[in-house]
Amino acid sequence: MPDLLRVLLVEDSEDDAALTLHQIAKGGYELIHLRVDNEGDMRAALVEQAWDLILCDYNLPGFSGLAALELLHESGLDIPFIIISGAIGEETAVEIMKLGAHDYIMKDNLVRLVPAIERELREAGERRARRRAEEDLRLAAKVFEASAEGIMITDADSRILRVNRAFTEITGYAAEEVIGKTPRTIASGLHDSDFYRHMWDSINEQGFWHGEILDRRKNGEIYPEWLTISAVRDGRDRVTHYIGGFTDLSQQRKAEERIQHLIHYDALTDLPNRVLFREFFQDAMRAARRGGTRMAFLHLDLDRFIKINDSLGHQVGDRILRQVGRRLMGIVRNQDMVARYGGDEFIIAMTNLQTMEEVSAFSRLLLDHFTEPFRDDGREIFLTPNIGVAIYPDHAQHYDELIKFADIALHHAKRPGGAHVELYREAMNREAMARLNLESDLRRALEREEFRLHYQPQVDIASGRVIGAEALLRWQRADGRMVLPEEFIPLLEETGLIIPVGRWVLRQACLDRKRWGQAGLGRIPIAVNLSPCQFHDRQLVSMIRTVLEETSTPSRSLELEITESSVMDDPDFALSTLEILHQMGIRVAIDDFGTGYSSLSYLKRFPIDVLKVDRSFVTGLPHDEDDAVIIDMIIALAHRLKLCVIAEGVETEEQLHFLQRLGCDRAQGYIHGRPMGDGAFRRCLAGAG
Ligand code: C2E
Ligand code: MG
Ligand code: MG
Repeated sequence: MPDLLRVLLVEDSEDDAALTLHQIAKGGYELIHLRVDNEGDMRAALVEQAWDLILCDYNLPGFSGLAALELLHESGLDIPFIIISGAIGEETAVEIMKLGAHDYIMKDNLVRLVPAIERELREAGERRARRRAEEDLRLAAKVFEASAEGIMITDADSRILRVNRAFTEITGYAAEEVIGKTPRTIASGLHDSDFYRHMWDSINEQGFWHGEILDRRKNGEIYPEWLTISAVRDGRDRVTHYIGGFTDLSQQRKAEERIQHLIHYDALTDLPNRVLFREFFQDAMRAARRGGTRMAFLHLDLDRFIKINDSLGHQVGDRILRQVGRRLMGIVRNQDMVARYGGDEFIIAMTNLQTMEEVSAFSRLLLDHFTEPFRDDGREIFLTPNIGVAIYPDHAQHYDELIKFADIALHHAKRPGGAHVELYREAMNREAMARLNLESDLRRALEREEFRLHYQPQVDIASGRVIGAEALLRWQRADGRMVLPEEFIPLLEETGLIIPVGRWVLRQACLDRKRWGQAGLGRIPIAVNLSPCQFHDRQLVSMIRTVLEETSTPSRSLELEITESSVMDDPDFALSTLEILHQMGIRVAIDDFGTGYSSLSYLKRFPIDVLKVDRSFVTGLPHDEDDAVIIDMIIALAHRLKLCVIAEGVETEEQLHFLQRLGCDRAQGYIHGRPMGDGAFRRCLAGAG
């Protein structure tokens, strides 16, 4: 198979060119060729195609062998360049060779051509190979130096020959400090001889080893690294070098540790969090099972902590929580764990309990430690915890249940004043379950239209006429049972459901009242109860406006019953709301008066229209002298403040007459009618009219 030879001929004579080509073909080459005879064509030919050989005439009209040679140099290409000439003298020939031509052949001695070509092609090939090898070396050196991996090369006796920059950066040793030494210079001394024996076994048998290893930096610091060692063998399979490459794992380790910490510890207090607490519990539980001991869960929250956040700000709250965490850490025993459970809640696991007395003793200790105030910025803050306790395995075997039971117990411990400890009892769970059921039923009651309104007449004592009605909420459950407000209103308040339900009450009452008027039963005012959380709802005024508008109820016909605590808990807010309601023309009554603060002198600051004397004062009338005196005083004072007085819970004629004598304006009670459904109340209105 003849070689393919790509020849560029720089020759003006076609005949000479043919002769030359013929000569080459005789040498057994297959040819691709191009003949050019001027600078422009030659330049283009060099760009367009790769050439194995340039054969160039010396004398060319308008061009020359020397110019062609120059052009080749300019191009930077390494192509064998042979001058073929008619007659040039020795001197000229030497000159041309000096300038870089590879050979020259006389036209009358073309037999020399093929051997010359062969030699030049071989040499060009060698030059190319050399250049490639040099390039490879340069590249390898670059990679070696620039590598982020630390690299060391040793001889077969493990003497260090070379190290790179990353080696110095990682170990702290400069090249000259380690060259000639063995890698033991950087060993940590923390691995035993077995470790190294395994390593060398692997290198000898498989040619390499990789793994994690601890080494020591020049400054003494021990660090983990990922190391790969490979043996380099020569043609006869003898080891000539070892190459070790390693990456420093210490940053990665630190990041991993940081992440582990974040996963397991609370960022604010640095106490264990729920995740770590659960893991701790699982271990402790196994130990308790083996040892036949008990464990206690103490779920603790801080009484009225929210007030600190609200009044002093979250930053103060956060600082206090940190102090609480430290205080708790200071009292738990070594075998116990305290974790932050979220917000102002902490949880403590006491392990290895022999007697229950240990739990009570610890609870007392805990409460004792909270009698000291917490300090922040010169302020003294008193906090008392409430604690709910559940015991493993007595109350439950599983973590989630124990947590739940401790939480239920905590719920029972939450009473005003704080510092209560409650041990879980089974009955608590039943209550909690019942409550949960009730709650889910209540959530659906509104959409299922299970709420009803009953009305109780309010009567003008002097004339005996019905001059108003109080709307009272009822819940008619799916089984037909009518539930009274005291059973579900507290839950509506706790869950916030009182807001939508309260809107429904107001709307329904206004609609019913409107229909009574349309039926010719009179246009009496309607009284609607508002619980404290409704009263404090920021949307209250706009909600009332909308309902009044939609039901075209004049505001004069609406009376809102609020309790004293609604007003006294946040007097500034109460005052502004009451003023708006007053300006709108809505009447406001203080319900159950006498059971709360009962400060008439205070109440006079507020725009209030009606005082409803609580039933408990009416019940004893007329025989209980204390009640009689109190009611007498309330009525007198209320009248002085131009308030209308209604007595609640009037059941007997005697009570009614007594109240009439004291000048009480109105009465509401069984004597005039129990709370009744819409139909019954219509009949009541019709009869009274
Ligand atoms: P309240 O506003 O003081 O309502 C008067 C309560 O006294 C009603 O109880 C009524 O049935 C009862 N009562 C009326 N006359 C007599 C009587 O002569 N003798 C006796 N023994 N009791 C009488 P009810 O309907 O069980 O309501 C209890 C409380 O529930 C109400 O007390 C009110 O605070 C609250 N409530 C009722 N409906 C609503 C409502 O729609 N919204 C809000 N937020 N609270 C409501
Ligand atoms: Mg009421
Ligand atoms: Mg009342």
